[in-house]
Amino acid sequence: MQEQRLSKEIRVTVFPPKLEEFSESQAKFYTKYAAVAFKTLTNPLFQRFLGWMMLRENIDAHTLADVQIRAFPFRKENGNGLAGRFNKKGEILIYPKRLEFCRKLMDEFERENVYFYIKVRAMATLIHELLHIKYSHDEEEVRRLTRKYLNIFTHHKNLQSMSDKRILNILFSP
Ligand SMILES: [Zn+2]
Repeated sequence: MQEQRLSKEIRVTVFPPKLEEFSESQAKFYTKYAAVAFKTLTNPLFQRFLGWMMLRENIDAHTLADVQIRAFPFRKENGNGLAGRFNKKGEILIYPKRLEFCRKLMDEFERENVYFYIKVRAMATLIHELLHIKYSHDEEEVRRLTRKYLNIFTHHKNLQSMSDKRILNILFSP
């Protein structure tokens, strides 16, 4: 039941609404990125996995209002990007990686690997923020468990090739 509830809560929110801040190619890229993230996070197999993880970790989903995929990157004051956050309203917000970064990945990897990066980043972010519901400010524990659960899921689906492993290392490097 829990996994059904979760999948209904995942929706795509375009934020900020001022599209004119972005060039046409940026808007195109981030729209596509959000669609890939949405498809990944609402995938029934992944939803079932999240349900299992939340039961196992005893995460109380009642405090979770919803999960929102923001189409545009979040910029912190210091210029660093943000993958996601769990706010006081009980919303989990998931942000994309910047276009410039993904372009660099495309120089080094195949297109398929870049898709893999986008997918696992979205999954890792949702797992990470769900774990924060229980472990609140214990960032170290949340990171350790995020890696553990993402590994369980990707191994289970037999997703990991050599370049996928390199992608995972990029994802988890500080
Ligand atoms: Zn965190």
